[in-house]
Amino acid sequence: MRYLEPKERTAELLRLALGHMGRHQASFNPVTFTLWYEYVADINPKLRAALDQRLKDTAVIDDEVVADLYRQHVAPVDEEVMAKISSEMESLLASIAQSASQAGDHAGKFGDQLSGLDKALTSRDVEQLKPRLTEVMAGTAAMKSSVDALQQQVSASQEEINRLRTDLDRARNDALLDPMTGILNRRGFEQRIESLLTHRAADGSSHCLVMLDIDHFKKVNDTHGHLIGDRVIQAVGEILRTSLKNSTHAAARYGGEEFALLLPQTSLDHSVQLAESVRTRTKAMKIRNRTTQEVLLTVTISGGVAEMQANEDAASLIARADAALYASKQSGRDRVTCA
Ligand code: GH3
Ligand code: MG
Ligand code: MG
Repeated sequence: MRYLEPKERTAELLRLALGHMGRHQASFNPVTFTLWYEYVADINPKLRAALDQRLKDTAVIDDEVVADLYRQHVAPVDEEVMAKISSEMESLLASIAQSASQAGDHAGKFGDQLSGLDKALTSRDVEQLKPRLTEVMAGTAAMKSSVDALQQQVSASQEEINRLRTDLDRARNDALLDPMTGILNRRGFEQRIESLLTHRAADGSSHCLVMLDIDHFKKVNDTHGHLIGDRVIQAVGEILRTSLKNSTHAAARYGGEEFALLLPQTSLDHSVQLAESVRTRTKAMKIRNRTTQEVLLTVTISGGVAEMQANEDAASLIARADAALYASKQSGRDRVTCA
C-alpha cells in the first residue's frame, strides 16, 4: 500500500500538489497530479530525486517531463494505489460536505430564532434594539449564503474527484497495456510477475511462464511490409488473449514479436497444453488480403515453458523460459520446449 497518510494530511498534500501544478506548465491531468502528490508526500524517493534534478536543470516541468517521470517512477504501482488515493480524497470531501451541510442547518435555525426575537421585540417597540438585530439578521443571511456557496463548491469538487479517479484508472491501465494488441505491455507483465512472486502460494501450487516468439518474423516484414507485420502481431495477440480461460492468467507482449503467458496456479502440463494450443492456432491462422480475401501468408511460433522454482526471482524464471524458447528455435521452430 503506497498512500497511507492520515486524512488531515491528505488535505494538506492536495493543497501542496495543486500549488506545484499551478506553478508549472504541465496540463492539469491525473498523471500530473499523481506525480506532484507523490512528490509532496515524499513517498517516492526516486521520483523526488529525479524531479528535484529536473527542477535544478530546467526549472520547467511540462507535459513531456511529467510523462517521462511518470513512466519511469510512478506507473509501476500496485493495483490498489489509485483506488486508495481517490477514495481517501473522496472521504475527505464527503466529511467537508457533511460539516458544511450541518453549518448550513445551524445558520438556518439561528436565523429563525432571530426573526422570532425580532418580531417579539418589534411588537413591544423597543426601537433601539432593532437596528442591531437587523445587523445580526444580515450577518446571518451572509453566513448562510457563504455556507451554501461552500456546499456547492464541495459538491462540484466531488464530481471533479470522481472524474479524476476515472482518469487515474484509465491512465494507470493505459500505462500497462500494449496499444497494438490490447494485452499487457512489458511494464504490465513485469508488474504482474513481481506481484505473483510476492504472493507466492503458501500451498506450494505451481506457477508457470510461457515465452513465445514468432518464427522468421523479419522475413514477414521484408516480404509483406511492416503493416502486414503489424497485423500478424495483432492476430497473435488475439490468439493469446482468447486462449486464456482463467481470469488470473495474463497475456503480454513482451517485446516486438515476443509474447508471454503468465500462468499462476497452473501445472507445467497444463501450461504446455496452453502453449501448444497457441502454437497450433497460430499455425492455422491465415492472414488475408482484406479486399480479395486471398491468403497472403501464414506464420508459426515457438515457445518455451518454465515452472517457477521455490525462491526463484523473476529474472531467473524469464531466463529459463527464454532458454527453452531458444532450444525450440534451435531444434527447428514451430514447437514448444520445457525448461
Ligand atoms: P526467429 O525465428 O529467430 O525469431 O527470427 P525472427 O526473424 O523472428 O527474429 P528477429 O529477432 O531477427 O526479427 C524480429 C523482427 O521483428 C525484427 C523487427 O523489425 C520486427 N519487429 C519488431 N517489432 C515489430 C512491430 O511492432 N511491427 C513489425 N511489423 N515488426 C516488428
Ligand atoms: Mg522471432
Ligand atoms: Mg524475437
